[in-house]
Amino acid sequence: MTLNHSNFELLSNETAITLAKKLGLVKTDATLKCREIGDGNLNYVFHITDTATKKGIIIKQAVPYAKVLGESWPLTLKRAAIEANALIHFKSYCPEFVPQVYYSDEQLAITIMEDLSHLKIARTGLIDGDKFPLLSKHIGEYVAKTAFYTSDLHLEPSAKKEVARNFTNPELCKITEVFVFTDPFFEELPGDYEVELTDAAKSIWNDQEVILEVAKLKQSFETEQEALLHGDLHTGSIFASDTETKIIDPEFAFYGPVGFDLGQYTANLLFQAVTRNPAGKEEIFTHLQEFWDTFEETYTSLWNTQNKSPFRQVNGYLSYVLTKFRKDAYGFAGCELIRRTIGLSHVADLNVIEDKETRIAAKTTTLKIGAFLIKKREELDVPAVIEALKQHT
Ligand code: ADP
Ligand code: MG
Ligand code: MG
Ligand code: MG
Repeated sequence: MTLNHSNFELLSNETAITLAKKLGLVKTDATLKCREIGDGNLNYVFHITDTATKKGIIIKQAVPYAKVLGESWPLTLKRAAIEANALIHFKSYCPEFVPQVYYSDEQLAITIMEDLSHLKIARTGLIDGDKFPLLSKHIGEYVAKTAFYTSDLHLEPSAKKEVARNFTNPELCKITEVFVFTDPFFEELPGDYEVELTDAAKSIWNDQEVILEVAKLKQSFETEQEALLHGDLHTGSIFASDTETKIIDPEFAFYGPVGFDLGQYTANLLFQAVTRNPAGKEEIFTHLQEFWDTFEETYTSLWNTQNKSPFRQVNGYLSYVLTKFRKDAYGFAGCELIRRTIGLSHVADLNVIEDKETRIAAKTTTLKIGAFLIKKREELDVPAVIEALKQHT
């Protein structure tokens, strides 16, 4: 379906307020303040607050191109509807971990949602040393529930295919296919890296074993339809506090391999593990273990109680599925580590390191660990990953 862009109009702080009033989402007689707070790459985010009650709402608006890639990379506005629908789907399975959607409009490409400003973006918090004691357990539970409830084990396979039809997301998938799975692995394709990393990058480009495994991982991303994924589950898509966790920004949602969500979160924890001192590393190792333990426990319990497949009790089937998720996840995690280091979109975890030598050392490590995860993904578990990290840092 092609959208008629003629009804699209980029909001301003003023028109955002007018819209919120028209929709009855704020009091018409209130004194309202609006600020564009989007730090993201693709969209605008308007934060409207009632200056008396301090209560707020968020209006997120997509624009017809990728903000960071420039107007030369046109991008469907349909992603706003995908995001709103995905939030609603995920909230039905994990109400505590997903913001409330108040309103969405496909023509304006907006999603109006719960204000989460009392929480902190997990990436920023982890960089600041926040402990977020429940974060990784919550994310493990969230991935297990969304992966299980949207799969063929819970939905009728024909119903699942209907859901998947509403989440065909070719343009956003293409961003991942190009920027995560392709460009970073070829010297001649676009990249963005510090010159001091050239040798480390070349050793990836010249490693045919890595390149072959990435081809397989990319194929799996392109062809498998295991579950409705978030599709962009890095720590910048998560709001957190000591007690609460909310997952935002599922505009990349599509039916894909479960390991992709698991792998992106894993990799983004590993950026922290690489950059921290030994005591700080241990905190991240705990996050990693809690994430995987909670994911596997939750998934297992859903399997045992709500799996509709006639094969559910066949010995070895659950462990086959969990093992596949794990192998995929470590491979995808490796791709994420590499693309955030030498590809077009970087992470603050590495770039905030001011001392050049320290930063280059950290980035060299993320490249090495990335290649290691990709090549060894069949045999890895959390202790093996921790061991490798300790050896490389
Ligand atoms: P993008 O898709 O452009 O990355 P995000 O959905 O990640 O956009 O939002 C970008 C930023 O806007 C977030 O990092 C956060 O600072 C702010 N933001 C987004 N959603 C909310 C929300 N519900 N409550 C408060 N702030 C939000
Ligand atoms: Mg974002
Ligand atoms: Mg390249
Ligand atoms: Mg986004």
